[in-house]
Amino acid sequence: MKAWVLKEYNQPMELAEIETPDIKDDEILLRVKACGICQTDLKIYRGEIPPPIVTLPHTPGHEVAGEVVAVGSRVDGIKEKDIGIVYIYIPCHACTYCLSGRENLCPDLKRIGFELPGGYAQFIRIPSYAFCSFEKRIPFEEMAILGDAVATSYRALTVLAEVKAGHDVLIVGAGGLGIHGVQIAKLCGARVLVADIKEKALRLAKEFGADFLINSGESPGEQIKDLTGGKGVDAVLEFVGSEKTMGWSLPSLKKGGKLVIVGYVPGKTFPLNTMAMHYNEWKIFGSRLCTKVELLEVIRLVEEGKIKPVISKTFPLEKANEALQAVQSPDIVGRIALKF
Ligand SMILES: [Zn+2]
Ligand SMILES: [Zn+2]
Repeated sequence: MKAWVLKEYNQPMELAEIETPDIKDDEILLRVKACGICQTDLKIYRGEIPPPIVTLPHTPGHEVAGEVVAVGSRVDGIKEKDIGIVYIYIPCHACTYCLSGRENLCPDLKRIGFELPGGYAQFIRIPSYAFCSFEKRIPFEEMAILGDAVATSYRALTVLAEVKAGHDVLIVGAGGLGIHGVQIAKLCGARVLVADIKEKALRLAKEFGADFLINSGESPGEQIKDLTGGKGVDAVLEFVGSEKTMGWSLPSLKKGGKLVIVGYVPGKTFPLNTMAMHYNEWKIFGSRLCTKVELLEVIRLVEEGKIKPVISKTFPLEKANEALQAVQSPDIVGRIALKF
């Protein structure tokens, strides 16, 4: 099979001919139909997620949709030609995190596209547990991005920030994840403020229901205070996670508000005003992908048409290097995907 292989950081990947993987009794083989491209893939490309997480040579890709082409002898309920996506976290199923419904924190976690080979390839071998089937046919590239871009936003907003009807929610960064965060916040009944540096991203957020648009280059903190009558917002969803954005997004919270950090900048820290934390009882959460059951909920919401996966551009398998570079382009909004 053909698979893209990153052999050296910051160098173009090579399209290699490698063995199609054999499956074990409890595994399935997927023919990859589409694979989303994440900012994290760029971090991998640049060497910002080094060993022991990602070791070279490596095949990236953690938003994978495809068709089942082979099923192991001990697999129940999945058959050839089923279509679906991959829950990319492969947990141990036995530790206290797994047993308490927090498999995304399993210390023995292996991840497709990180510790394990990803979906920039014609085929991928996965444990049957990782397969999440679809009943409705939607384009494979739209299916693919549910695994991270949509489900990560879903967990951050509904489980961590506990967004409810009537809340004011600030989405910082309306990119591949944030644009779905806008839709999910609206679905929860919140009033949604969106801050981004790109006008194009703000216009797209408006199309998906954003109530207020904030250019983050123009005193965003003051705009947010004005828009909320001086109170601040109930929740901030940080899809950027830089020192610069958190400098104004955290103080935009109302008293008792919640900041959820979804985006991150490798190796960077953030100075915290501990006195403001004390007086306001702000809560700060980290956010890490989702659990499988949350991904299944997202699939249902997308099948029901309540969330629309936003793909701005697709590239063929042969153009993976171009696609990876396009993620950095100021013109790109929404998600990019490889389509096979
Ligand atoms: Zn990702
Ligand atoms: Zn575990």
